[in-house]
Amino acid sequence: MKKHNFYAGPSILPQYTIENTAAAIKDFAGMGLSLMEISHRSKQFVAVMDEAQALFKELLDIPEGYSVVFLGGGASTQFAMIPYNLMNKKSAYLNTGAWAKKAIKEAKLFGEVDVVATSEKTTFNYIPKGYTIPTDADYFHITTNNTIYGTEIRKDIDCPIPLVADMSSDIFSRPVDVSKYAMIYGGAQKNLAPAGVTFIIVKNDILGKVDRAIPTMLNYQTHIDKGSMFNTPPVVPVYAALQTLKWLKDNGGIAAMEKKNIEKARLLYDEIDRNKLFVGTVAEEDRSLMNICFIMKEEYKDLEADFFDFATSKGMVGIKGHRSVGGFRASTYNALPKESVGALVAAMKEFENSH
Ligand SMILES: *Cc1c(COP(=O)(O)O)cnc(C)c1O
Repeated sequence: MKKHNFYAGPSILPQYTIENTAAAIKDFAGMGLSLMEISHRSKQFVAVMDEAQALFKELLDIPEGYSVVFLGGGASTQFAMIPYNLMNKKSAYLNTGAWAKKAIKEAKLFGEVDVVATSEKTTFNYIPKGYTIPTDADYFHITTNNTIYGTEIRKDIDCPIPLVADMSSDIFSRPVDVSKYAMIYGGAQKNLAPAGVTFIIVKNDILGKVDRAIPTMLNYQTHIDKGSMFNTPPVVPVYAALQTLKWLKDNGGIAAMEKKNIEKARLLYDEIDRNKLFVGTVAEEDRSLMNICFIMKEEYKDLEADFFDFATSKGMVGIKGHRSVGGFRASTYNALPKESVGALVAAMKEFENSH
């Protein structure tokens, strides 16, 4: 039976990415060697790294003056690397979920953190608005898509100080005005590549302003100067990321992705709102296009396990909500076909009809 992959991360990737990476693991660039056993300094791999950086810039329309870096360590390492490189005395954070909280915890190791607003009291079921960004902070940090709770900031906000965004789970899902950000970063395993590579888009002129000494490997400038080749980069995930970038380009780029993502999300949210058994968990205006969270209405709560089993029998994989929220979460990343959302909606209708 066909599986419908709704995992939140690592998550569905284009077949194009999987097949080309599998082929390169057997024979990379006609070298008669595996992608896993070649030097990252071979001219064939240097070409992969260069093309990945160039396509990243092209697809996101990144202006002059920014660098794209690929590192290991995940988005979680960035939580510390950002304040290490950018914060002298004070930074500001918007607390919209578990990942934001982790970022705040790390920033506190380096100075004063002004949490400008939080929606924690209501389990992060909306994006706070109407907050004031302190102009004496070195940067303002946001999480554009809250993977666990299913809220998303889909507008590029105006910010009087350098804006830093964790876009782990919505990068390449919509066009972004990169010029509004000082830095955009994320783990690649949600919408781009297998786990193991972290992408960082950084405005060159925000670096070099802190007083502390920065260890070489934790200094963005090191990796910018060496084109992400200061040490051995995660070769296989970078190759896979390049395949996804090519797939994005061949499929109309990010604007076309956004259109498809809006259609997919609308299909599922409409069913959640219509179906007598289910209800969404977050404020309507903040609903994520990438992670769609819903629960069973109070009076049908005891059907939750049954629906999970029913959906599983229909080929749905990964729809269990995060343990801190419960219920269901369907992640609808770029590579998820509309057909899979249709199958989930059909299962919800069929289950409703029999209850
Ligand atoms: C998954 C995720 C992270 C953590 O990424 P790692 O690469 O596992 O460290 C951070 N932020 C967001 C928004 C995420 O979805």
